Amino acid sequence: MDHILFSNRSQIHSSLKHYEKALRDAEMACCLKPDWSKGHIRKAQALVSLGRTEEALREYLLCVSIEPDCRLAKTEAHKVNMDSCGYLLHSTPLEECIKDSVVKAAAVTDALSSAVSEVLDPTDLECSLCMRLFYEPVTTPCGHTFCLQCLERCLDHNPKCPLCKEELSDYLVQRKYCKTALMENLISKFLTAELMERQKIHQEEIAELSNLNKHVPIFVCTMAFPTVPCPLHIFEPCYRLMIRRCMETGTNCFGMCLGDELKGFADYGCLLEIRDVQFFSDGRSVVDTIGRRRFKVIQHRERDGYNTADIEYLEDVKVEGVAKRELQSLHDAVYDQALVWVNSLKAEQKERIEGHFGPMPEKDSELQASPNGPSWCWWLLAVLPLEGRAQLPFLALTSLKDRLSGIRKVLLFMAQSRHR
Ligand SMILES: [Zn+2]
Ligand SMILES: [Zn+2]
Repeated sequence: MDHILFSNRSQIHSSLKHYEKALRDAEMACCLKPDWSKGHIRKAQALVSLGRTEEALREYLLCVSIEPDCRLAKTEAHKVNMDSCGYLLHSTPLEECIKDSVVKAAAVTDALSSAVSEVLDPTDLECSLCMRLFYEPVTTPCGHTFCLQCLERCLDHNPKCPLCKEELSDYLVQRKYCKTALMENLISKFLTAELMERQKIHQEEIAELSNLNKHVPIFVCTMAFPTVPCPLHIFEPCYRLMIRRCMETGTNCFGMCLGDELKGFADYGCLLEIRDVQFFSDGRSVVDTIGRRRFKVIQHRERDGYNTADIEYLEDVKVEGVAKRELQSLHDAVYDQALVWVNSLKAEQKERIEGHFGPMPEKDSELQASPNGPSWCWWLLAVLPLEGRAQLPFLALTSLKDRLSGIRKVLLFMAQSRHR
């Protein structure tokens, strides 16, 4: 409350025309509470009375940056500007006066920018985590400011403030990161060029992270198939970051590959699309995804602790004429075989499968309409008791005929082993 006392005494000094004292008290109020616009207004008023108009204007600008709608600061600043060119009115024609006031206003603005830039050193507005100008700054309950993304990445590993180690679990549970408006206003007003540069870097990063051909994030875990749901439990910090990025960029997609002892992960995989994410208080999440497209891995890479890959998408090769008719009859026969197998399952087994993957899809009305082929094939491959190693070759096939023949062999084998 001391800042209010100083501010009030400053006003009293002003009314007694003790402007130096008024200024000192106003400065005290600003020191005690720098983000309080009224303190800066008092300081500006004292400076005007002392004839220090440029410094007064700087204070009014600070008010506007703290409180963009502060009408008093705006009108006062305007008055100061007008008054300071009022001297010219007596001896100069009107046009001259306007021209002059424009020149003067520009000069004042220049002087202000450099004055404020001196006060606001860009390094004061640097994030201690990325050493760059704050981007979407947020302030923690312990009073430390970071870029939103930088803070999130730290909290992935440890729910403590990166600077003072204060426990931030409660803050994390709420997931309400308030952007620091004052900081953002200051940056956008006085460090416009730096902010534009920072935004450009951010946009380039987003564009790079959005690319679904190069450097595509890869989750190394399980087999996934086009059109088949794939629920995932995310707890490793690197995958938390990966999932958040997929959502921030708006692609909502990442690749899923089976692990491989030698290469790290398999040469073929499936692009998954995030449909829903459920966050838990400890930072874990359950992600509901569905398979979209198959791909071949061209090159392995890495980014911030998780795997990425340059990939090429696979599509079934379409056939025409006799081959198309043969394909249709093969398809119908294998579909019936699959139904026989599904209906031979025990009730509880079938229930479990349908709870996880949904019921077996119907036949597609147009056999070759989808570049992935009929979705029931992928559903069946996901639920058949096959090991990942046995499922994997099916992802690589771009011939529906070969895929159907393969499925037929598996079903035949299952039927025989049951009868034995
Ligand atoms: Zn940062
Ligand atoms: Zn802290």
